[in-house]
Amino acid sequence: MAPKLPIYMDNHATTPVDPRVVEAMLPYFNERFGNAASRNHSFGWTAEEAVENARAQIARLINATPKEIIFTSGATESDNLAIKGVAEMYREKGNHIITQATEHKAVLDTCKRLEKYGFEVTYLPVERDGRVNLDDLERAITPKTILITIMYANNEIGVIQPVAEIGKIAQKHGVLFHTDGVQAVGKVPVDVQRDGIHLLSISGHKIYGPKGVGALYVRRKNPRVQVAAAIDGGGHERGMRSGTLNVPGIVGLGKACELCQQEMPAESAHMIALRDRLQRAIMGSLDEVFVNGSLEHRLPNNLNISFAYVEGESLLMGINDVAVSSGSACTSATLEPSYVLKALGVGEDLAHTSIRFGLGRFNNEEEVDYVAQRVVETVKRLRELSPLYDLAKEGVDLSKMSWKTD
Ligand SMILES: *Cc1c(COP(=O)(O)O)cnc(C)c1O
Repeated sequence: MAPKLPIYMDNHATTPVDPRVVEAMLPYFNERFGNAASRNHSFGWTAEEAVENARAQIARLINATPKEIIFTSGATESDNLAIKGVAEMYREKGNHIITQATEHKAVLDTCKRLEKYGFEVTYLPVERDGRVNLDDLERAITPKTILITIMYANNEIGVIQPVAEIGKIAQKHGVLFHTDGVQAVGKVPVDVQRDGIHLLSISGHKIYGPKGVGALYVRRKNPRVQVAAAIDGGGHERGMRSGTLNVPGIVGLGKACELCQQEMPAESAHMIALRDRLQRAIMGSLDEVFVNGSLEHRLPNNLNISFAYVEGESLLMGINDVAVSSGSACTSATLEPSYVLKALGVGEDLAHTSIRFGLGRFNNEEEVDYVAQRVVETVKRLRELSPLYDLAKEGVDLSKMSWKTD
């Protein structure tokens, strides 16, 4: 059966809200519209009860306690609150933060901001497979180090970091460990106890919940972690994040977490089956294609492939009824290759021709087959026009050729 077009396969960017999540949220827009901070009447109590229920749903998914969940406007805010909040709170202890090159901009730009205020940041490189080297990490720790912030799973290549090992290193040196868990939570089992995590960022819209709501897990025991507030006001969320709570959004985030927890075993098997089907169909029909990042330590729903001897833009244009992301970012004037792929040592050409396939709950086999077929025929067609591909096929080593430019 022909799938309905266009096909959405960009689920690392955002996900559709699950209809069951929408249903759970709806009453909280009008029937139960109360302010969760209103203590004097049932409208407030009803809203508060819904918020506390969501807190418990989120906590269960990551093996935390409800009091350790702080609601935010999304993971960008959670990352900012964790990093800046620790920086301010533990300034007396030290001014050094360790992160790594392939973090999301919400972490990298926050660290850059702190450098302006006198903090020192180490940006660790990653290995060819996208994972951080644990010896590098341990060597980077100094008596001034207060925080390690390394993501759980990467949003471009889906590579999962050795989080439990990082947690152990952090504990051994008495350093706090924050992880951006946006892409991992709800997709793979995340356990803040097992993994030794002190702070963890979560986003609603990456897990079939609404946009504009997220959470930060802040550990309360062994050790008790404190973060300075970024937003001051009425003292909501134990003083760490003021502002009237987004009750419908929070209810949606809670429900999204509950569904992820219930469906994770089946869903991840489904994602792996679709991902492997996509990979087989593409790589079985094309040569000179390369998977970026570790396949072993990887989210079930991610595939990131570079296609040699085609132009990234032309490839995307050729599959324009499929929503995917490319490894190029359009900045004002130039096409910049992805800094994540660069950090893995992927050359500029291959970075420009990479595609991120982000599978999701609502994708099916027909869609996967259609996408694979479109990719394969487009790459073949573009390569027919490529003199470089012909030369390579004839055995000419292109890296040894000299190019006359004048
Ligand atoms: C999407 C994303 C964010 C930002 O989350 P928002 O809720 O959209 O602010 C942060 N980190 C990672 C890894 C992401 O994929």
